[in-house]
Amino acid sequence: MNLTLLYRGTLSSCNYDCPYCPFAKHWESPAELKSDRAGLDRFVEWVADRTDDELSLLFTPWGEALVRKWYRDAVVTLSNLPHVRRVAVQTNLSVNPTWLAAADPATAALWCTYHPGQTERDSFLKRLAVLDRLGVRYSVGVVGRREHLPEIEALRADLRPGVYLWVNAEKDEPGHDAAELVEALTRIDPQFPTNLTDHPSRGRACRTGSEVFTVDASGDVRRCHFVDRIIGNLHDGTFPAARSAAPCPNAVCGCHIGYVHLEHLQLNALYGDGLLERIPQRRPASRS
Ligand code: SF4
Ligand code: SF4
Repeated sequence: MNLTLLYRGTLSSCNYDCPYCPFAKHWESPAELKSDRAGLDRFVEWVADRTDDELSLLFTPWGEALVRKWYRDAVVTLSNLPHVRRVAVQTNLSVNPTWLAAADPATAALWCTYHPGQTERDSFLKRLAVLDRLGVRYSVGVVGRREHLPEIEALRADLRPGVYLWVNAEKDEPGHDAAELVEALTRIDPQFPTNLTDHPSRGRACRTGSEVFTVDASGDVRRCHFVDRIIGNLHDGTFPAARSAAPCPNAVCGCHIGYVHLEHLQLNALYGDGLLERIPQRRPASRS
C-alpha cells in the first residue's frame, strides 16, 4: 500500500524570532521535549515495521524541528529504509545541513523557508550550497510580505535558475492581495495566485483520508491538519483500516499542504515526484 504521512509532534518552538509567528523564540521544558522525542521515536519504529508498504513522509512541525538532534537522526534513519520513498522536512535551514551526509540523498529532501531579518541571505545561500554538494533535493520559499519584496527579488536573482522559489501569501497582513504586490510575487512564483486563494473544498474529492494522512505524537491519525476528527491510531492497530475516500468536509482549503491534495486542482501533475518537498517537475507556467 502507498501511504503519505504528514507528521507533527508536540514540538512548538523555534530558534528564530519572526514577528508574525507564535513559535518565535519559544522553548519547551525538558519534560515537554522528552515527550516530543518519545512520540517521534514511536513513529519511526512504526514506519520501520511497515516493510510491506511504500511510505512517503513529510515533517510539518510547529516551529523548527531540525535544531533537535532526534529529528535529524529520524530523517537519516527513515531515509535509509528501503520502503521509504521520500522523507521531507519543512525547515528554516538555520542548522548547517552537513548532517544529511549520512542520509540517502535519493530519499531525503528539504523545503527551506528563507526569513529575511532572521538570517543573512549569504548564509542561507551557503547552506543551500551544502545541499547541492550532498545532492539533496530542496525547494526554497518565502512569506510574501510587502516589506520583504526587495529581499525576495534579490534571493530569486541569487538562486540557481533551476531552483524553484515558492511564495506563501501572508493572508493576515492587510493589503497582502493588493494588485501590484500580487503581480510582483507572481513574477517570482507563478503558483502564487494558487496559494493566495482559499479553495472552495466542501464536497470535493481530496486524496487525504485515503492516501494521505496526518499523524500526531500519540499516533492519532487524521485525514489532514485541518479536519480534527481522529480516524485511527498507528499504535493500536486501527490504522490504516479506517481509510476512506470521503470528500472534504470543510468550506475552504487555503494552505498548500492541504489543497495540493484536492483532486480537481491537479497539482499532483505539476509536482509529481516532488509533491511533498514542493518541487515542481517543470517550471510552473507564468500568469503575468
Ligand atoms: S522560522 Fe518559521 S517557525 Fe520559526 S519563528 Fe519564523 S515563521 Fe515561526
Ligand atoms: S481539501 Fe484541505 S481541508 Fe479538505 S480534506 Fe483536503 S486537505 Fe483537508
